[in-house]
Amino acid sequence: MLRVGINGYGTIGKRVADAVRAQPDMEVRGVAKVSPDYVAVGAAEAGYPLYAVDGERIDGFREIGVAVAGTVDELVADSDVVIDATPSGVGAENRPLYERHDTPALFQGGEDATVAEVSFNSRANFEEAADAEYVRVVSCNTTGLSRLVAPLYETYGIEKVRATLVRRGGDPTQTGRGPINDAVPDPVSVPSHHGPDVRTIFPDLSIDTVGLKVPTTMMHVHSINVTLAEEPDDEAAVRDLLADEDRIVTVPGYAGIDGAGTLKDFAADAGRPRGDIWENCIWEESVTLQGRDLYCMQAIHQESDVVPENVDALRALTGSLDGPESRALTNESLGIGFGRLEDRPRRTVDRTAAD
Ligand code: NAD
Repeated sequence: MLRVGINGYGTIGKRVADAVRAQPDMEVRGVAKVSPDYVAVGAAEAGYPLYAVDGERIDGFREIGVAVAGTVDELVADSDVVIDATPSGVGAENRPLYERHDTPALFQGGEDATVAEVSFNSRANFEEAADAEYVRVVSCNTTGLSRLVAPLYETYGIEKVRATLVRRGGDPTQTGRGPINDAVPDPVSVPSHHGPDVRTIFPDLSIDTVGLKVPTTMMHVHSINVTLAEEPDDEAAVRDLLADEDRIVTVPGYAGIDGAGTLKDFAADAGRPRGDIWENCIWEESVTLQGRDLYCMQAIHQESDVVPENVDALRALTGSLDGPESRALTNESLGIGFGRLEDRPRRTVDRTAAD
């Protein structure tokens, strides 16, 4: 059993903890938290040993009836691997802590790529993490783009990717980021940092990205144009290629899923924990081919698409399973895939634009 410590128990940390617990070959050694709050109570109720990041706040945890197992130093010492899920920039500050205990660590996409030897996407470069001590699981947007790029790159080759990222203004818990009533070019300069980040996974890829922020907490939506090197037979071939990907869901027209809100509602109905959507959701009808130019739109659930990637990165770094084995195990233990949506006979729907 791989003993996994989780340092930083917020949006990503708590989801990753639950995903690690669901694996047959891993256990959550404990979680480290700063504040004695409702999330700490949740961690205690979930049965995760809780470690204090700030020793001076230990009494605060005890005052709300949450037992403290020790300090973050002890958690790192007792873990085989640590997943750092602290806010952007704090992970890099934590690296000396992991080095001191000789404990390998995963970092998240908010960190600069230089924090680790390898930037990781399970579908694209699993093997590259094999000899690494420190691995960065790339951001939600980069994960979403990499999952789409990988099969297209392998099958047709890619001349150029152009992607417009319509990004959620904040996560539901990030009250400090809103409310906003605007659509904000972010950054206003082109390209955004996302393209270079995708190149940490595909160094030779030609990609430009443009970013905007809009007032939603639901999901990001990407509008993508890929100029392929080789022309596919037809649109159906591309749809089939994407539908065969384990972490891509092609959303059929019949379902009436017309946006991120209905997708989230669908995920909640499907019983997904926290309404999470671990997969890229590509609207099937958006997949359009004009010669070698492919267009499509996909929704990315920023709070959860990196969760299975963290689980796979643990196995990549420790060498316990190879990529396909790890992905299959992660998919099965989490319940990845929306068979109830994809496996039905298709019904054509006539959609007339209303505005
Ligand atoms: P978050 O703010 O929700 O959670 C971070 C947690 O770490 C909080 O509970 C905070 O109290 C705690 N923390 C702060 N300082 C700490 C320290 N020194 N030691 C231990 N814990 C500390 O942040 P998040 O959204 O979970 O983001 C974590 C990382 O994941 C960032 O790198 C972020 O860029 C990346 N990420 C976030 C998202 C997203 O949409 N939320 C998506 C993909 C990747």
